[in-house]
Amino acid sequence: MKDMISCIDYVAIQKKELRDKVSTFERKPKLCVVQIGNDQASSVYVRNKQKVCEEIGVDFTHVHIKTEKISQENLEEIVWELNESYDIDGIIIQLPIPNKYNVEELQKCISPEKDVDGFRLDSCFKSCTPKGIVDWLKFNDFNFTGKEVTVVGRSKIVGKPLVNMLIDEGATVTCCNSKSYVALHTTISDLVISAIGQPKYFKAADFNENTIIVDVGINRDENNKLCGDVDMENVKQYLDDVYVTPVPNGVGRLTTLSLMKNVIEAYELQNKK
Ligand code: NDP
Repeated sequence: MKDMISCIDYVAIQKKELRDKVSTFERKPKLCVVQIGNDQASSVYVRNKQKVCEEIGVDFTHVHIKTEKISQENLEEIVWELNESYDIDGIIIQLPIPNKYNVEELQKCISPEKDVDGFRLDSCFKSCTPKGIVDWLKFNDFNFTGKEVTVVGRSKIVGKPLVNMLIDEGATVTCCNSKSYVALHTTISDLVISAIGQPKYFKAADFNENTIIVDVGINRDENNKLCGDVDMENVKQYLDDVYVTPVPNGVGRLTTLSLMKNVIEAYELQNKK
């Protein structure tokens, strides 16, 4: 397990391939990120996306609607208009948005060909975080067939689409939620993917020594430091050989990479017509 290619190295390899591919295009693909409100974490995520776009050669436009006085209808009009724009290949609504707005209705204003987050049921693209994880595991020659996989969390953006993708890959998949007896499943799993959003929740006793652990959580610990759902120190202390993806520099990078792949695919799809 220790010879797995890390998320950070994998992303570096893939970014170079994407950069080379984009350099052959007639024009640069373009991503539009719509941000609503003033959530600070969202602003950090938007800047990260912009940085990766620049590295790969993808154009980036940021539509930041700071006021919360705007109506849902007006927001939908803005997203509709962006969706009509010929030179925008992919659009995402940066989450979270203020509670007063209906995010699903906003996402419906993005056509399936431009829904590069892959959130619509009829989207042309796979959801970014699950796709990033599955692509990275495949790159590491992880053979899903016959493997016991536990996904902890059943959200629309991570848990659910991930379960479907893992089933398609041939894994035996269990999906846990907050009422599950989680350790019953994680201790017998070959692969555990945690997306619960609870800082350092999982300890060594939740796993076996051969488990690969993918930590999706992005949380703050008691010192306001970024951390995942897994207590890395505890796990490493008792399970020397286990593989855990780090937070930061783990799944977050895989997610942004998938977004870039989806934008490039969106460009190719729309320029074929
Ligand atoms: P949500 O916050 O929408 O849902 C959390 C899920 O975890 C729910 O299904 C909940 O169960 C379950 N859960 C919560 N606590 C426990 C527990 N103790 N045991 C078992 N299950 C539990 O999930 P998201 O998918 O939106 O986000 C999860 C985490 O992943 C967050 O930290 C988020 O920041 C991060 N994230 C990271 C991304 C990345 O790129 N790295 C991308 C997206 C999210 P129930 O349904 O019963 O309430």
